[in-house]
Amino acid sequence: MQTSSKDAAIAIDGPAASGKSSVGLMLADDLGYLFLDTGCMYRAVTLAVLRRKVDINDEQAVVLLTKSLDLAILPPDGSKDGRLYTVLLNNRDVTWDLRFGEVDVNVSQVSAYKGVRRDLVRRQREIANQGKVVVVGRDIGTVVLPDAPLKLFIIASVEERARRRWLEQLERTENVDYEQILKDIVRRDRIDGNRQHSPLRQATDAIIIDTTNKSPESVLEEILALEYFQSIRTRR
Ligand code: C5P
Repeated sequence: MQTSSKDAAIAIDGPAASGKSSVGLMLADDLGYLFLDTGCMYRAVTLAVLRRKVDINDEQAVVLLTKSLDLAILPPDGSKDGRLYTVLLNNRDVTWDLRFGEVDVNVSQVSAYKGVRRDLVRRQREIANQGKVVVVGRDIGTVVLPDAPLKLFIIASVEERARRRWLEQLERTENVDYEQILKDIVRRDRIDGNRQHSPLRQATDAIIIDTTNKSPESVLEEILALEYFQSIRTRR
């Protein structure tokens, strides 16, 4: 079947640790689509701001830095450390550096800046225009790919989301505080949902998928059972 990038994009949005990245990757693998987790781009900018000691309150400086960054998101290429993809920031592998402490605390401030969003949305559309793609984030169905033919909004209870992040971090380090993770998630939800530019919102035509108490495999099954995939199979 001949498809344009517009027909072939699947937009997945949802709050932190709702399961959207794991499910998005499984869906992309199943369909043979490219997978793009846009959260890692905002995280990479935040990491660069922290490492270069740019004043995070200086919006102009943060935007300038964003525009100068060389960012690449590649398949995991056989790495057996549980990564979903590899992120190169100015040619250095920063995949795991994006997941911890200071980045989590500061990413919502960086991603609230209009100029940062404009630059990263442009990069995201460039990648999505390459063809069949599953794109995951907060504003994919509303801003980045508003014409995507399938939009999913993935949710889960805040306790379950914190538990997932806690388990994920426990695999890589010993001192992980569940209550702190829960607090950070609630705080990020608040900032991401209330910011002026592209706040986290369900697109009016998005389908809600609740992943609470469900395995990634059963969520994938639920998604593949949607009417959209029935019609694609019929067209094939
Ligand atoms: O999805 P993840 O938790 O990795 O995203 C990290 C942060 O990046 C979010 O809390 C949000 O502030 C920002 N983000 C965004 N727009 C996106 C993806 C992520 O603002 N499309």
